[in-house]
Amino acid sequence: MLELRNIEKIYTDSKRRVEALKNINLSFQDKGFVLICGESGSGKTTLLNVIAGITSPTKGNIVYRNKALESRKEIRKYCIQQIGYIFQDYNLLEDLTVKDNFLILNSIKNLNKTEEDIKSILKQVHLDDVINVFPSQLSGGQRQRVAVARALFMESGIILADEVTGALDEKNAREILTLLKEISASRLVIVVSHHKQLTQPFADRIIELKDGVIINDQNQQKESITEEYIEENDVQRMTKGLDFKYALKLGLKYFRFKTFKLFLSTLILILSFVLLLVVVGVMFFDENKAYDTGINNEQIGYLFIDKYEKSNYTLTKKYFTSEEITTIENNFLYSTPILFGNYLNYSIATTLNDQTFICEGILSLSEKKLEVYGFHLIGSLPKENEVVITREEANLLSISVENYESVLLRMNHVLFKISGILEMRADVSGNIKQADIPQNLLYVHETCYDQYKDESNVTRVLVESSDFSNICGVSEDLMKNDENFVYEFDNLVYNSIVRMTVFVESIFKIGLSLGILLIVFSTLLLIHFVYSSVVENKRDIQIIKMIGADNKDIFKLFIVQPFLITAVSFCIALGGYFIINHFLNEYIQVEFMLYVPIVSLSLSKILIIIFTIIALVFFSALIPVLRIKKSK
Ligand code: ADP
Ligand code: MG
Repeated sequence: MLELRNIEKIYTDSKRRVEALKNINLSFQDKGFVLICGESGSGKTTLLNVIAGITSPTKGNIVYRNKALESRKEIRKYCIQQIGYIFQDYNLLEDLTVKDNFLILNSIKNLNKTEEDIKSILKQVHLDDVINVFPSQLSGGQRQRVAVARALFMESGIILADEVTGALDEKNAREILTLLKEISASRLVIVVSHHKQLTQPFADRIIELKDGVIINDQNQQKESITEEYIEENDVQRMTKGLDFKYALKLGLKYFRFKTFKLFLSTLILILSFVLLLVVVGVMFFDENKAYDTGINNEQIGYLFIDKYEKSNYTLTKKYFTSEEITTIENNFLYSTPILFGNYLNYSIATTLNDQTFICEGILSLSEKKLEVYGFHLIGSLPKENEVVITREEANLLSISVENYESVLLRMNHVLFKISGILEMRADVSGNIKQADIPQNLLYVHETCYDQYKDESNVTRVLVESSDFSNICGVSEDLMKNDENFVYEFDNLVYNSIVRMTVFVESIFKIGLSLGILLIVFSTLLLIHFVYSSVVENKRDIQIIKMIGADNKDIFKLFIVQPFLITAVSFCIALGGYFIINHFLNEYIQVEFMLYVPIVSLSLSKILIIIFTIIALVFFSALIPVLRIKKSK
């Protein structure tokens, strides 16, 4: 038994207020053919939609089997389990075959029916061989019969039919009404029609509406139906929601006639994603890690440390104290700091034939260092009273590879023989990098170095190590002594990394602002894309809602497009990203003479990207679906 108690429905919008239903009280048996008639605009469709649970009444309740349906959930359950709807125009999904028009109900209504069931139901409505046909290939009468069959397929207790004969000729109309009459032997069939004369003979009960009020309710049955108990369908059917297979099938069809929009959206999305990947890739660029990588890749094992005093924005070079040297020594476990001497009261110029170069200090040289630094020595390692000079120094003093052995060099009034000339070993391609050899130094034998060590002031410290991971710690330890001093770290890699950091920061800033702009723009484009799909397919939305789908299902239907567009764009963007990354690294290598990749994608970064994309897809489907819901 279905009851409507004090139902009132008022439509209000900005312009007008319509009282579509006024204080409706009705009760229906569990079977029989009820005709609701009345003029156009009298509230018939509204009444039917209220009974279907599609439209919620402004006031009043639906009571089904003595239970008032109050919560949204109860109403939805009633709608899914009990209601089968047939309507005039919006009846079948044109993009699906007859078979799929049935099967789509399986998940929405949580049924478990097969193709065989469809065939036998179609037979009941006198249709054969239409199962694989598209609705557009059927005549009006045939379509309406398919719609009736679909209502039967739903196994619902109440079948609602809104103007189902409106578009049919009299013969076809009678056939449909006959079918409905047959069905009404076991279910409640409520038919809305303004064509009273045609429908009246089939009806057990006629309810007449005028301006939202019942003006006539007449039972024309010979004997009244004995209220026999119709077994309740105890299986608790609740929806599983629209099957993704059909969401995909329909969603793909909605792409038609949208080639340009699709192209534009995809293009902008690809650009956005490439930028997103690069920006996120350079995000959290870690100077220390880059430094390590650089050291490893370039196999550079040295670092200079200079000390300056800060005063009024100028830096003055200062000597290291012995505590500072100890600090440095303690921090580099596997290294020995090498000291440069600035010999007080002595001449630090080294002269030859009136040509001079300022020698900053001395440094010992061993076979191992030659190997570690990749130096190439012409001649031999220095013995006592011998020095080795660099190729650049030799050029300054006009010393050549042929005559160096005959040259004597004066340092601190002591004469030294030149035992060799130092240059960088050529790399595989034959290039020589002179920049890597510390210049303005004389390379001497160890005993000579030790002799000068005690009387020297240290202006620079050269640290030899293969592990500089502790460099920040060293810097902090040194700073602790006195805030007026700054320490500069310097080698080929360190210098490059400092410049590289500036470069990365600018990529990040420009990329981020451009990226945000593009992401916002592409989200808007996607929203527009989905919105136009929603508008073009309002009819499908209506049908899917009428057969029991809710907003979640509509959302599912319209997320297909942004999802596919985004997925394809992202795959292309990944390719683009790898190409850009390749060129970026090549540029870095040329510009900074260093192989340090600046873009890296870790797991957490990939999660950021995935999250952004999911949000993008979600919003681009949600906003249009919400808008359509509001505008209804
Ligand atoms: P019928 O099916 O008998 O032609 P309806 O139930 O469709 O009548 O409409 C009853 C009244 O409610 C009409 O005046 C119609 O304009 C109004 N109406 C129906 N649906 C809406 C709606 N969604 N928004 C505003 N007014 C509506
Ligand atoms: Mg109507």
